[in-house]
Amino acid sequence: MEQAVRVAVFGFGGLGKGMARLIPQRPDFKLVAVADSQGYAFNANGLGLTDAYELSHPLQADSDSMISLLKAHGTEIDAVFMALPNLPVEFFAETVKRIADETGFRGVFVDALKRTEAVERLFELHDDLRQQGILYITGAGATPGFLTTVAAVAAHSFVEVLDVNIHFGVGIANWEAYKATVREDFIHLEGFDAKRVACMSDEEISEELSVRNGLLKLVDMEHADDVILELAGVCSRDRVRVGGLVDTRNAKKPVSTTVTVTGRTMTGAVGSHQFVVSDEATMVDNVCGPALGFMLRAVEMHQRGFFGLMTSADIMPRFASRVHPVADRPLEKEVALSV
Ligand code: NAD
Repeated sequence: MEQAVRVAVFGFGGLGKGMARLIPQRPDFKLVAVADSQGYAFNANGLGLTDAYELSHPLQADSDSMISLLKAHGTEIDAVFMALPNLPVEFFAETVKRIADETGFRGVFVDALKRTEAVERLFELHDDLRQQGILYITGAGATPGFLTTVAAVAAHSFVEVLDVNIHFGVGIANWEAYKATVREDFIHLEGFDAKRVACMSDEEISEELSVRNGLLKLVDMEHADDVILELAGVCSRDRVRVGGLVDTRNAKKPVSTTVTVTGRTMTGAVGSHQFVVSDEATMVDNVCGPALGFMLRAVEMHQRGFFGLMTSADIMPRFASRVHPVADRPLEKEVALSV
């Protein structure tokens, strides 16, 4: 890519701020806009963050910030990272429909959606997005996203995939820094659903977390890895299981994140590949890094005329950082020769 991809972040909470901290370390990208429920900030030359993770430019008050931003500056934005809450489950699809209908924006979107139903609702917008000249990659965070792609690649050793098991460990020091993530996880706990969680105050969430000592044990989640792997032809959705353990009081992961793909080889043997994510890589690393990789690939595809809705398993992320070929690194070469 000749010029840095001009990125807007929608939703400036835990992940949105994480993305804003990551982008300056990735020379392929420039953060030019942020939209949150309070308003938006735009600077064609780039937005910076202060030490306190606040924006260097104050938000311009606007109750319909995403629409206003794209109407005013859509031609100066290449790609949007959607770091919005997904409660209620139709929120993403309704927002994207409005953007397609009202703003004239022609660019790329990547999201970190988690729930199967939310991704399915987005699929209904494929034709609208295509007509508008938008390429939207859904499920492009950690899971689905990074881990789904791992499973989709690992599947190739087998003639039949019998089971995909994604088990994540997440450690966050303070749940209030990632409210939407924790609220969405609550939906999967016994006795809770989206309606009940939507009515709970932050105090009630905190009380429930206290009862659980800050730990959320999640099993058989309604997670879009299933529909994404099914659409990619890896296996039927009933063979995909997603669960995890989230510690909302400790930045250290309570358990390592793994992806296990079990399948039958051409000789009839049954075996499993297992991929273990580094405990040092945080939720922000594992969501925002891959989201940029999917974004870079999507921007390339958009320039080649691909529009509509695709999932992360349909494309490979592109490593989002400039690599210096070995020939450009004389010091390392000298060291290698002298050994
Ligand atoms: P958060 O609550 O910290 O931040 C969400 C932000 O969106 C808030 O700042 C809020 O003010 C803003 N917002 C709400 N309504 C808005 C509107 N109408 N317009 C503009 N901004 C609005 O949330 P988070 O923890 O950063 O999570 C963001 C999303 O990422 C959630 O949907 C979560 O489920 C998802 N997530 C995905 C993965 C993955 O691997 N796929 C992992 C973690 C989180």
